[in-house]
Amino acid sequence: MPELIDGKAVSEKIKSELKAEIELMNAKGKKVCLAVIQVGEDPASTVYVGNKEKACKSLGIVSLMHKLPETITQEELLSLIENLNKDLTVNGILVQLPLPAHIDSGEIIKAIDVNKDVDGFHPENVGYLCTGKEGFVSCTPAGIMELLKHYNIDTVGKECVIAGRSNIVGKPMALLMLKGNSTVTITHSKTKDMKEVTKRADIFIAAIGKPKFFTGEYIKDGAVVIDVGMNRDENNKLCGDVDFNSVSGKASAITPVPGGVGPMTIAMLMYNCVKAAKRQYGAAFE
Ligand code: NAP
Repeated sequence: MPELIDGKAVSEKIKSELKAEIELMNAKGKKVCLAVIQVGEDPASTVYVGNKEKACKSLGIVSLMHKLPETITQEELLSLIENLNKDLTVNGILVQLPLPAHIDSGEIIKAIDVNKDVDGFHPENVGYLCTGKEGFVSCTPAGIMELLKHYNIDTVGKECVIAGRSNIVGKPMALLMLKGNSTVTITHSKTKDMKEVTKRADIFIAAIGKPKFFTGEYIKDGAVVIDVGMNRDENNKLCGDVDFNSVSGKASAITPVPGGVGPMTIAMLMYNCVKAAKRQYGAAFE
């Protein structure tokens, strides 16, 4: 059996350290506050937003919920973001995606103050990641790097293959692994002979959104396998992009779904909120 990479345990450790930091900040009269905007009532978004709210509460972060109707206009949404940008009591702003089709998500993300962009999706923060400068990093890839660090999985000189090229997971993940001195390959829906590519990976990261797509045939013996996928299988059970049972015979270490990458995403969001607050409150808190 491969080593199980326990994202739940690592995320709990990170959150308890953050909680202690937040208590210290509170004792100095400074609160940490995250504003969350949800447009419409997409059930998956409601679950994600609920989990974020719960995590804030357990750490002592103030969460300001803005649940807006599906019919809201782009201008109204931009005006809310402008107000939150100006609000000194708000440290982080998160707009739950996807937004309805009549709203231009790119414009909305660009409107968020880059110093409050705790999701790390603002083009300026993406640019900082790309050029190796300090900024906010997308939470899921950042959480995966924390997992690798926690389990002493060396990235230097390793062949890393990432399946999926989304702006939220695949691309920032590739940049982080590059920063970690891996040799990085990204595959996508137009990749020819996927197996030939994924079998080169010492570290394989699956983020395509297809239930149990990657079986043992895609994996090199001894590879570290990170499963980002969050899907429902034929029995409506939560599962990843990796066929856990099939890949377990090949991998040296693997993240489960649930309990792997998912909890780390929330922990890194909380980390980014604390980072945003420290930046806003200045040197005394850094
Ligand atoms: P996305 O925006 O839909 O991107 C999917 C990517 O996978 C695209 O680049 C697509 O290629 C590629 N792809 C799709 N089918 C493929 C196939 N058959 N073979 C090869 N590549 C294929 O998805 P995402 O937002 O990155 O999310 C990916 C998965 O991670 C989803 O299951 C999502 O729920 C999950 N997720 C989990 C967390 C977490 O916290 N655990 C966070 C975010 C996302 P093209 O670019 O060519 O279309």
